[in-house]
Amino acid sequence: MRLRVPALWLFAGSVLLAMAAGAAAQTPAPMPAAIAEPQDRPYPGVIRLAVDASDVARHIFRVRETIPVESGALTLLYPKWGPGNHAPVGRIDSLAGLIIRADGKRVEWTRDTVDTYAFHLTVPAGVRSLDLEFQFLSATDDAQGRIVATPEMLNLQWLSVVLYPAGYFARQITVEPSVQLPDEWQFATALEIESTAGATTAFKQVSLEVLIDSPMFAGRHVKRVDLDPSGPVPVRLNVFADRADLLEAKPEYLDAHRALVTQAYRLFNSHHYDHYDFLLALSDRLGFIGLEHHRSSENATVATYFTEWDKNPGARELLPHEFTHSWNGKFRRPADLWTPNFNVPMRDSLLWVYEGQTQYWGYVLAARSGLVTKQQALDQLAYTAAIFSHRPGREWKSLQDTTNDPIVTARRPIPWRSWQRGEDYYAEGELVWIDADTIIRELSNGQKSLDDFARAFFSVDDGEWLTPKTYMFEDVVAALNAVQPYDWAAFLRARLDAHDGPPLDGVARGGYKLTYTDTASDYFKKLEAQRKYADFTFSLGFNVGRENKLSDVLWGGRAQAAGLTVGTQLIAVNGEAYEKDRLIALMKAAKTDNAPLEFIVKNGSRYSTVRIDYHDGPRYPHLTRDEAVPARLDQILAPRQ
Ligand SMILES: [Zn+2]
Repeated sequence: MRLRVPALWLFAGSVLLAMAAGAAAQTPAPMPAAIAEPQDRPYPGVIRLAVDASDVARHIFRVRETIPVESGALTLLYPKWGPGNHAPVGRIDSLAGLIIRADGKRVEWTRDTVDTYAFHLTVPAGVRSLDLEFQFLSATDDAQGRIVATPEMLNLQWLSVVLYPAGYFARQITVEPSVQLPDEWQFATALEIESTAGATTAFKQVSLEVLIDSPMFAGRHVKRVDLDPSGPVPVRLNVFADRADLLEAKPEYLDAHRALVTQAYRLFNSHHYDHYDFLLALSDRLGFIGLEHHRSSENATVATYFTEWDKNPGARELLPHEFTHSWNGKFRRPADLWTPNFNVPMRDSLLWVYEGQTQYWGYVLAARSGLVTKQQALDQLAYTAAIFSHRPGREWKSLQDTTNDPIVTARRPIPWRSWQRGEDYYAEGELVWIDADTIIRELSNGQKSLDDFARAFFSVDDGEWLTPKTYMFEDVVAALNAVQPYDWAAFLRARLDAHDGPPLDGVARGGYKLTYTDTASDYFKKLEAQRKYADFTFSLGFNVGRENKLSDVLWGGRAQAAGLTVGTQLIAVNGEAYEKDRLIALMKAAKTDNAPLEFIVKNGSRYSTVRIDYHDGPRYPHLTRDEAVPARLDQILAPRQ
């Protein structure tokens, strides 16, 4: 429909326009010239990159870089888009002290005013190389970002310590890296050593793409374990810990990690690396990370991973997840996530495969390898199923739309997670793939499963790793159809675009029902302890974190209705200081009592009293066997022979 405009208005309007023209109407200022698009052509010469990572006391990485150049205009880029992060995570704000010289003379640079990761300069005539120096000032406090250096260990990510020329594919730029570490420290990385001199190690030349895919962990207390002595290529577990005693691991724990490799090979029937190095930090101080690479993965978890094994089952899906990524994500990669360099934007539309199916295989492989027990796996799935049964945000935001979340939210804290949603394509993606797996098992009478999809989809070009094989939605559908004919496109779209009820079909077809009791599972309690929170989401609708402050409040839940928000501090319940177990006891008592629970809460300096009229008792999720349905989930979780 068009708006009808009276003729007189048109006349008046044209007079005004003429007046505006006479006063020289404002026009937009021109944008800077576009930065050269990456081309698939070799960058002439080799970049020498020397990183001094020895200043762990001050968390400063000092970089010297020599870049071969020709005279004329040049643009240098600081990596912005992090592979595996699916987001513009490059910390350009942490780059400082950039001084560029040619033959000892200073060459001034100017930063692009639109793309602040780009530095423009003019190389003087006759100059053949530039000498750069700068620092990466990594976080010294959690509030500034992830801690990557401690007195005991460090995590060097090349993405943070390199500038590279615009106009070339990353695989066409050759780099000769070297690192200086604190004295006596050991390191692990997928890179291969060229030479060692004291605390400085030079590595063999690699492309910029491989360099950034090959981070380093280094530290004082190190243990290395060969996980696959008789396998096709080496797979090593490189453990770095805050203290030497934290490295002690019982043989059966290491056997479970060995079984992870065996079970992954039985699942994927291939490998896409020439060697693989798990980098594993057991630390209370190094910032958490789980980041995949072709030939390694960066993993940081609880310091007591080995020494308090029974307390930390929730920490043991990390390695299976990141290992799976060598197949799903690194080698097979969504076409819109493969980018020619680190400054071309990534698009995340297929993260429900990249991360969602990896979440599923990580979950399955943790159980198949014995890293977690079957009961722990069932309890973990119950928790996931319960979370997505309490996800009101599904009403407006589809699972598909959550794939934009790494860019939209960038893992910043948010006030209403259940309504805004987060990176739900991980865990809700896991539920989609259980759904798909159990459908295949049902339709094929147990003859086929999602294992067959994994074998077909990820085993192509066995042994290859340098050249990722990309795919699109249609390729996933075709591969599913080759395993078990079905309308997979409609199946996937229905789940990706859904706004309806909880996504529990896979759990039901797996032979289980989601139920709630007033007692938390052992797994649930341990996860609460590990993550230092108390989860009342499924009853009162909140989660209590550090300092007894609410770390999550369920949208539409009882706590929200009572006016509580994230950040509210629980002071007292029914007149006594808040404690998790005391609240649980009061909730149980309130089942046979008409009085509401009365909370004293604190927001800033303001105390107030809040009543929640709740009488259904504590509610904790469990999976209960449904004997009417084959126990497909049990089959999925059983180790492959
Ligand atoms: Zn992942």
